[in-house]
Amino acid sequence: MKAWRFYGFNDMRLDDVAMPQCRPYHVLAEVLCVQPSVTEVQLARGIRTLAYDHIKKRLETEAPVQLFGHEFCVRIVEVGEGVTRFRAGDRVAARAKLPCGNCPLCLSERSHLCRKGPIIGFQLPGCFAEFAVLPEIALVKVDDRISDNEAACLQSLSDSVAAVETAQIQLGDSVAIFGQGSMGLECLQVARSCGAGKLITVDVREEACRISKELGADEAINASACDPVQAIRDLTEGNGVDVVFECAGGSPKQGLSGTKSLMQAVGAVRSGGKIVGVSWFGQPLEVDVDLLRERSLRYLFPDISTVAHLEHTVRLVASGRVRLKPVITHVLNGIEAVAEAFEITANKAKCKAINPAQVVLRSKVS
Ligand SMILES: [Zn+2]
Repeated sequence: MKAWRFYGFNDMRLDDVAMPQCRPYHVLAEVLCVQPSVTEVQLARGIRTLAYDHIKKRLETEAPVQLFGHEFCVRIVEVGEGVTRFRAGDRVAARAKLPCGNCPLCLSERSHLCRKGPIIGFQLPGCFAEFAVLPEIALVKVDDRISDNEAACLQSLSDSVAAVETAQIQLGDSVAIFGQGSMGLECLQVARSCGAGKLITVDVREEACRISKELGADEAINASACDPVQAIRDLTEGNGVDVVFECAGGSPKQGLSGTKSLMQAVGAVRSGGKIVGVSWFGQPLEVDVDLLRERSLRYLFPDISTVAHLEHTVRLVASGRVRLKPVITHVLNGIEAVAEAFEITANKAKCKAINPAQVVLRSKVS
C-alpha cells in the first residue's frame, strides 16, 4: 500500500510499504478522509511544540517512519479476534490517546484517565496511508448523518468538548472565546449547547468573525479594529465575562497572537471567573500570577478527551447542534495530496483556511 513516511524534519515522501496485518482486539481499516492537525504540521517542520522531543528522537533513530494522521474517518475492512463492537463496513473515528492497560488507573476501570498509553500517529502508525490497523478500544462508530469530511473533525471536536466541560459552564454564564479557528468555533458551539448565556467571540479576521456569527455568536469582535477587552467590558456592564476560552495564543509566525490573547483574556474575565487555556504556546511564557491571585481568577487547562467525549461529539454533529461544514474550507483528493494539505494547514491564515486542509482518499462507495 501507499503511505507517507517521514525521513526527517521537512522531508516527507509517499512510499510503497507492506500492508499492515490485522491482529487481536484491532481492526484493519481503509482510510476515507484524513487531515493533519496543526501540531502535526508544526512537528513535521521541526517547530517546537507538544511531543517535539519524542518526534525528533523517532526521526533520528527510526527514519523513514510512518508518523501522524490521528484525525480521520476510516471504514473497517477486517476485524481481529476478540473485537465485539464493530464489524466490516462500519465507518469509525478514533480517540488518539490510548490507555496503557497496565497501570493502576487502567486496572481499576479508570483507563479513560490513563496518560501512559501510546498515541495514534505518534507511537503507532496513523492514517496518512491507504490502510491502518487501529485498536478497538479507541474507536467510535460514525452516525450515518455525518459525512466522511465531518467525521475527520470529530477527534479535534472531542478535545473542544473536553475543554468546555472543564469550564463547568452554568446556565446563562457569559462566555468569550478568543480565536475563531477550528477549535474556537467548536468551543463556541459546544458552549452554546451547554447553556451559555451571552456568547462573544474575538478574532482579527473579518471572515472568521462572520462565520462565528453564523455559528451562534451573539457578538463577534474584530480585534484588529478595536480593543477587545474594552468591547467585552462594555458588553457586560463593566464586569467582564464569567468564562473565557483562550484559543488564539501561539507563534505569530503561524498567524497566532503570541501571548497577547492570554493577556486580553485576563482583562476580559470577571473577578473570580475562569480562563480555559486551549492554546499551545510552544515555549515558556511569563504571566503575572499576582494579578490572577488578586482577582481570584481560575486559569484552567482541559482534561484529555475520553471515548465518552468522542461519543458525545458524534451526537452533537449528528443532531446538528454543532455544525462543522462551514469550517471545512479546503478539501483535496487522493493520497498524493497529503503534502499539499500540510502546506495549506501550515499557512492557514494566508490560505484563508479555518479547519486543517482535508484529504479524501476514497469516495463513499468502494
Ligand atoms: Zn494505564
